[in-house]
Amino acid sequence: MAKVKMWRPELETLPREELEKRQLKYFRKQMKYVIENSPFYKRKFKAAGVTPNDIKTMDDVRQVPFTTKQELLQSQEEHPIFGDFPCIKPEQATRVFQTSGTTGKPLKIPFSKKDWFKTFYEQFSYYIYGYGMEKKDVAFFPFTYGTFIAWWGIQGAMEQHEITIVPGGGQSSDARVKSMIDWGATIVCGTPTYVIYLGELAQKMGIDLPNSKVRIVVTAGEPGAQVPATKQLVEKLYGAKNYDDIGSTEITNFGFECVAQKGTHMSEAMFLPESLDTETGKPAAEGEAGELVLSNLFCESAPLIRYKTKDLVRFNYKKCDCGRTFLRMNGGVLGRADDMFTFGGVNIFPSAIENFIRGIPTFANEYQLIIPKQGTGKRMKIKVEPASAEVSDEQAKNAVKQLLESIVYNIKVTADIELVDPGSLPRFEGKAKRVIKES
Ligand SMILES: [Zn+2]
Repeated sequence: MAKVKMWRPELETLPREELEKRQLKYFRKQMKYVIENSPFYKRKFKAAGVTPNDIKTMDDVRQVPFTTKQELLQSQEEHPIFGDFPCIKPEQATRVFQTSGTTGKPLKIPFSKKDWFKTFYEQFSYYIYGYGMEKKDVAFFPFTYGTFIAWWGIQGAMEQHEITIVPGGGQSSDARVKSMIDWGATIVCGTPTYVIYLGELAQKMGIDLPNSKVRIVVTAGEPGAQVPATKQLVEKLYGAKNYDDIGSTEITNFGFECVAQKGTHMSEAMFLPESLDTETGKPAAEGEAGELVLSNLFCESAPLIRYKTKDLVRFNYKKCDCGRTFLRMNGGVLGRADDMFTFGGVNIFPSAIENFIRGIPTFANEYQLIIPKQGTGKRMKIKVEPASAEVSDEQAKNAVKQLLESIVYNIKVTADIELVDPGSLPRFEGKAKRVIKES
């Protein structure tokens, strides 16, 4: 492929050995820094009897205890507002964010002036170059900003790269679609669910998005960009390339897809990543699914060491067609360890089922998975909608049959498929909740 631009080519093309050497150097430095500045980590490392000097190889890293979200929440419970894990004083915070709290109490994270303006800039510059964005681009953010971290970071970095930002908050979805055209947006950012919603809305409004100036759609918050049928749909609706962006409030953003579109690159200049087998805790083999454990090497506000993200990933260490040696996560984030379910002895990711549904045009893009409790003998149920009221009974019947077959063939389980009225399943503007586990 043609030569691609990189933010730090000297780091992005480092041989693995050099890359790991650099990660270990900054890992030790970060350990030293947190021991000096965070009572939480000082306590933790003392209890584990581990010091920065003990860490000489990647295997040594595994002597360092994990950090879990539960511990961070508990620390905040005991020491409001931010807990005793951050390395800065509350008054040093320039910006604060909190997690959505969908799985419990929200976690609050402070960012210092340096992290907010410099570390984030550095971190997202890899993305901006990775996506092939340029100064002449115009980025539209159909998003209402709040204490949720989404898009703040990349938007700020894009501004520093002099990409034009059009804030699209405080508008209806119709107005957002019109705004994209009015402002000549070349970049649109959102969750896969919401950009698909806007793309379909544009069709209904008679607006020709595929022939508009939009050339890049960045999606985050859900696996979409790495679910083949979802990516295809986004690319068709916008006539643009769809790239993945992954991260979370507490660990910040760690993964970007490059123009080669062959997996999501780990930002290895900023993080030390591990993928661990969820049963044995040992490093997962290349290509096998493991839980992503991340250490933030440069954040100064609330750096996390060996943080269990609960995201399931598949590492690929082969050099990418773009020339980067940063490892790739094949399929991006495959799902949350919490979302993955075992059914009929098979590990199933909701994103796999999504791919089958979105590959059948007779169905609308929304769906719901209902997972019965293990041992009840009940089948998994999938609720789908016809794409429109015009779909005939015969077409719907064939589509249901096709879906059943692809599930049986690919994941070796049978399911009950329920066809519900068009538009009757819940729609989401942010992260979608489509899996219901029966208890
Ligand atoms: Zn690449």
